[in-house]
Amino acid sequence: MEDVALADIATQFGTPCYAYSKKAITKNFNAYQTALAGRDHLICYAVKSNSNIAVLQTLANLGAGFDIVSLGELERVLMAGGDPCKIVYSGVAKNAADMQRALEVGIHCFNVESEAELAVLNATATKLGLLAPVSLRVNPDVDAKTHPYISTGLKENKFGIDINLAPEVYRRAASMDNISVIGVDFHIGSQLTEIQPFVDAVDRLLVLVDELQAMGIKLQHIDIGGGLGVRYQDETAPSAAAYLDALLPRMAGRHETVVLEPGRSITANAGVLLTRVEYLKSNGSKNFAIVDAAMNDMLRPALYQAWMDIQPVTANHGSKETFDVVGPVCETGDFLGKDRDLAIVQGDILCLYSAGAYGFVMSSNYNSRPRAAEVMIDGSRMHRIRARETLQDLVRGEQLLPAD
Ligand SMILES: *Cc1c(COP(=O)(O)O)cnc(C)c1O
Repeated sequence: MEDVALADIATQFGTPCYAYSKKAITKNFNAYQTALAGRDHLICYAVKSNSNIAVLQTLANLGAGFDIVSLGELERVLMAGGDPCKIVYSGVAKNAADMQRALEVGIHCFNVESEAELAVLNATATKLGLLAPVSLRVNPDVDAKTHPYISTGLKENKFGIDINLAPEVYRRAASMDNISVIGVDFHIGSQLTEIQPFVDAVDRLLVLVDELQAMGIKLQHIDIGGGLGVRYQDETAPSAAAYLDALLPRMAGRHETVVLEPGRSITANAGVLLTRVEYLKSNGSKNFAIVDAAMNDMLRPALYQAWMDIQPVTANHGSKETFDVVGPVCETGDFLGKDRDLAIVQGDILCLYSAGAYGFVMSSNYNSRPRAAEVMIDGSRMHRIRARETLQDLVRGEQLLPAD
């Protein structure tokens, strides 16, 4: 990774360990910047894909805005030096306390997902004597053709407001005293490897924007969400340039600022998870490589049947055999990869590729496993950006009952 051997990262920081390339994060973000040159835009990195404050700091220094989905993410962005004026706040369940903090720091926009939320936001802003900038997240009812758990733009999903009902909700929003209607947004899903669903969603959105304009509601921005896919195996995910080349002409000549919320496409292929082979075993019909990373460290294979490349980082040892790469957790769903041809021995370090997005952020302490260390590689420098959790960390906040 950059100028550092992955084996050296494992030696220095132990395993399991996440490592991210600062150069790759920068390159992936700048690909969006370049493709948007000459067009008013705001790239709001989706914090949930990788929320380490050093990752956020790297992006803030590049001028990124941020798409957040919780108060915790808001505080992370502020801690990392992110500009509150460049934050959009998504999520279906923001409560009054969340809204109050976001109003006080002056975020760019609330991406409102329901009429009920709009009423609470107006009441909260009224109490504070502030104006809440609002975009309505509309559900354009397009099939993102991705895994059902990360498909969000269909009528049956919990997200957003039915695009057909949106004009009426906009009318009501515009009549509220402490709401300032400034935009519209959608997010139809994640790991999209085709451009057509985005094109369909933008086209539907623009019809709505024009309809709103005719009603006297003039928007300042159009937020086309995130969701651009990446290559994990053999997917042919479009580049940021190809994706925007398809979408920007459809918005040519319009005055609205284009807002984007990419997450995975910035961080996924900028990170790896390093893990050590604890034991090899065979039950006769199957070989298992038991490694020290588990589903609590990397949930994607268990949750989405995601395929992620696994390769040894140390020199090859003899001939390949077929292994299921599994972790120490007591669940049959605890695997990182199945039927992988690997030439490995006990003690080898394996690299799980494309682990920079939806990796560490989804990790847990299941089976009382301390969460992994995180490291940022910058040229030949290795920076620890999160210490491995200790056994003390595991019980932090827990208490024994008083003695009877
Ligand atoms: C998850 C999410 C994103 C980012 O999706 P990626 O697939 O990581 O690009 C953007 N916007 C919203 C509202 C999200 O929920």
